[in-house]
Amino acid sequence: MIPRTMNQGLFPVRVDTLKSVDLEAEFSGTIDISQLGRLQDFLQDNSGQTQVEIQFGRDEQGTSLLRGQCQAQVRMTCQRCMNPVEVDLSTDFELGIVFSDEQAKHLPKQYEPVIAERDDLELLPVIEDELILSLPMYAYHTQCDENELVAKAEEVVPVPVETEAPNNPFSVLEQLKK
Ligand SMILES: [Zn+2]
Repeated sequence: MIPRTMNQGLFPVRVDTLKSVDLEAEFSGTIDISQLGRLQDFLQDNSGQTQVEIQFGRDEQGTSLLRGQCQAQVRMTCQRCMNPVEVDLSTDFELGIVFSDEQAKHLPKQYEPVIAERDDLELLPVIEDELILSLPMYAYHTQCDENELVAKAEEVVPVPVETEAPNNPFSVLEQLKK
């Protein structure tokens, strides 16, 4: 089958749910933040884009899944000086696709449900929900006066330092959990 478009940058707004699951379809591309109205309510402005990769499939029990990752740089309001501050968002998700509230109740506990039509799943609200969940509670500049746009990135995304605990692999996991 020849893809209808070769434009890798174009992320689909909606897909045929069951067909995507059966084909284990993968999509990647960018979405303008200006298309995500609910996310904008938390932001200083609607500039920027999010990079998204998703993959459909099933687990061993036959549960239909939507896995994905998104990355975005957004502008929030610094809670010290009230000027814009750039914040990196990054999120991985694994959702169980269901077709009714009843099915959602019976979904294995490890998956958050996404309710879809069999032939129609709107992707942007799903991506938007995941980005909203990944927002930090508060955003601050490292130094409000010196550089208005640089966020204290290490507070937003903790980066484990391997050399601090060379004998304990679990300490890295502990840091990632925070
Ligand atoms: Zn500030």
